[in-house]
Amino acid sequence: MTSSNHHQALHALVGDTAHLREALKAADVAPLLMVLIHLGGDPAWLERVRPFIEGPWSFHEHAPEALKVELREAVVAILSDYARTGQELPVTPPMHLLPQMLDVCTGQHVPPEYYPLVLEEMDLADSDPKTVQWRKTPAPEVLQHFQTLVIGAGFSGIAMGIKLQEAGVPFTIIEKNEEVGGTWYENSYPGCGVDTANHFYSYSFAINHDWDHHFAKRDEIFSYIKRNADAFSLAKKIRFNEEVLSVSWDEASALWRLETRKADGSLHTLTANVLVSAVGQLNRPQMPNIPGLSDFEGPAFHTARWDHAAQIAGARVGMIGTGASGMQVGPAIAPIVEKLKIFQRSPHWAMRNPLYFERVTDDKKWVLKNIPFYAKWFRFQLFWSSSDGFHAMLQRDPDWTDQARSLNAANAVVREQLEAHIASEVGHDPELIRKATPVYPPYGKRMLRDNHWYRMLVLPNVELITEDIDHIEKDAIVTADGVRHEVDVLVLATGFQARRMLTPMHIEGRDGITIRDSWGEDDPRAHLGITVPGFPNFFIIYGPNTNLAHGGSAVFHSECQIRYIMQGIRELVESGSASLEVKAEPFWDYQHKVDEAHNKMVWSHPGVDNWYKNAAGRVTQNSPWRLVDYRNFTEVFEPSEYVFSPVKSAVEAAE
Ligand code: NAP
Repeated sequence: MTSSNHHQALHALVGDTAHLREALKAADVAPLLMVLIHLGGDPAWLERVRPFIEGPWSFHEHAPEALKVELREAVVAILSDYARTGQELPVTPPMHLLPQMLDVCTGQHVPPEYYPLVLEEMDLADSDPKTVQWRKTPAPEVLQHFQTLVIGAGFSGIAMGIKLQEAGVPFTIIEKNEEVGGTWYENSYPGCGVDTANHFYSYSFAINHDWDHHFAKRDEIFSYIKRNADAFSLAKKIRFNEEVLSVSWDEASALWRLETRKADGSLHTLTANVLVSAVGQLNRPQMPNIPGLSDFEGPAFHTARWDHAAQIAGARVGMIGTGASGMQVGPAIAPIVEKLKIFQRSPHWAMRNPLYFERVTDDKKWVLKNIPFYAKWFRFQLFWSSSDGFHAMLQRDPDWTDQARSLNAANAVVREQLEAHIASEVGHDPELIRKATPVYPPYGKRMLRDNHWYRMLVLPNVELITEDIDHIEKDAIVTADGVRHEVDVLVLATGFQARRMLTPMHIEGRDGITIRDSWGEDDPRAHLGITVPGFPNFFIIYGPNTNLAHGGSAVFHSECQIRYIMQGIRELVESGSASLEVKAEPFWDYQHKVDEAHNKMVWSHPGVDNWYKNAAGRVTQNSPWRLVDYRNFTEVFEPSEYVFSPVKSAVEAAE
């Protein structure tokens, strides 16, 4: 927005103070206080409000109404001052007050190591500080012959496209579906939504003030991704309905050669200097290996391939799996089915959040859209509420005696709270409590949001079955105790082939070595989760050890990876090199660091089975790092960790 636009907007804002006062009632205290201080308000306000903010969620605040009225009046006054004097709005907050501001805003201590991340994530100048600038702008003829191919047009692939486009790097995105959205396109099961608050689970460079929910459902998230793809005119850069079958590195030409198949069955060949995988970890459904599954005669489908033609209403539905997907499907369909039989192998922990079901009011949307910097501070508050604060709780305290049930004192407190929540929700039924309560420590599997799962368990038409499944027959699931559970529809909420990362693509690097040769069936590894020795000019977004399971937003991680990849591309182009490849030493150093960190954390706990670790017990999917660590590791692409190969002459290439 230009300066004159800003002033027009400010005049409009304070021109109708009655409306402004009314709308501000919808503002949360902490971000509104930050707006006041950001704009130059009296810092004494920080101390006045500090005692009433006890944590980073809006419901952690209990300021008296009279103080809130005063705060809102102070904001009206300062905005009116700016409008009257024509003074420029300060892009950055008063930096000498930043430490107190962050602490008061969150009700916790925000260490200085977070300041660069916070300012970047808030994108205060609306100019994406994570954008990589050329150090010397390449000549058009250099870029003209430089092609990047991105596999996948999901949340990450679209962001990658936007950043490549901004830098003027030619690119194409190849997408197997008919639409953008990736996982948010494919998963359309009833109740599908996100567990991370959306004002944070969204691009830092495309803040959306119009989320209808704090935790949006699938359609809203899919629309957001599509809107961004449209806003940046990406559709013309995407080859839809085309699946990448195999990629192989051609050493002579220093190019990747791709074989693809279009929906009509036709095969195609493409080449690229740089290849970026943006297919993610949760791309290919995992079908359970249960005897007789194919004998089932009714509709049977995976959650990520929901059969919308199947008659669910009034049917007897059997659902296998109680992870994040199953936990959303259950409460969404329980009210309409005749019978819901849930087959649970092991329970998940699920946490309550009062905002989970809340809609964002129109007044709050107005505040987010119109009050300068409010949305930025709101985003920061959400970042803090759902990120690194949990990390310490996932560390195993070697002196902790109750290792089987919890990891440390704080983890034990959370366990108590979760157990109390389950008990209160299922009406103190001891058998149901036993079945629904995990034996392993909190966070051992993904921590879910309780979307009324527990109160669903007590509905008369819902049955939680913990007996092992023996086999499936044409109209029933038969458990090991010999009971035939007759069902009309079978829902497989059984997760994804995450550990067989990048499956089913055939990926062949230098010297004919494939990614499966490198990784085996289930041991994916990459430097910073992004680059792999033997696979030049190949970058992975949401690769090995980058899944976030202590908290945070996958979008944040993708943006860190994209910045790193863009810097890698910059090195390649500016140095005039044909290829770059990560050296073995930094790669292995990083692997050891990752493993060492994981050995002290919850996901490698021997009592936990999860999709985060492989058959050998190594955690291959999750990041062991705090967000601030990963952001710092990936902030600067370090050329000395890579081997750069010069462009070969035509004669050399022919030899
Ligand atoms: P998941 O977490 O892997 O859960 C799969 C479920 O199926 C587990 O309960 C598993 O039992 C069970 N299962 C698998 N094979 C089975 C078999 N042969 N017999 C009986 N039970 C079997 O998969 P998901 O629920 O699709 O979630 C995957 C990830 O997607 C999540 O962790 C999350 O990262 C993401 N996700 C997020 C959201 C959200 O934000 N709300 C929603 C959906 C998905 P065990 O636990 O005993 O292995």
